[in-house]
Amino acid sequence: MDASLPHTRGVRDSKARFCDCGLKIAGTDSHQVCSSCLGLEHAQEAIDDPGSCGHCARLTIKSLRRRLARQASLSGQDPLMSTGWPAGN
Ligand SMILES: [Zn+2]
Ligand SMILES: [Zn+2]
Repeated sequence: MDASLPHTRGVRDSKARFCDCGLKIAGTDSHQVCSSCLGLEHAQEAIDDPGSCGHCARLTIKSLRRRLARQASLSGQDPLMSTGWPAGN
């Protein structure tokens, strides 16, 4: 093993950043915060109004849709869930 060589192994993911909340931000994502902190509205806007956010504009529509779907499920804004089921039993 040559100690003079810079050991790049293990740090190839250096483009990825961490949000203040501790979640990882992908290297392809240029937002300052993670998609979770951006929230459901931001994810929705990026699809409704492409170009409203320069960072979102760099992502593919496919990944934007995936982010939106995840935000919707994370925030529990599923219409089926929010109406409340009739309590059975
Ligand atoms: Zn975050
Ligand atoms: Zn954005």
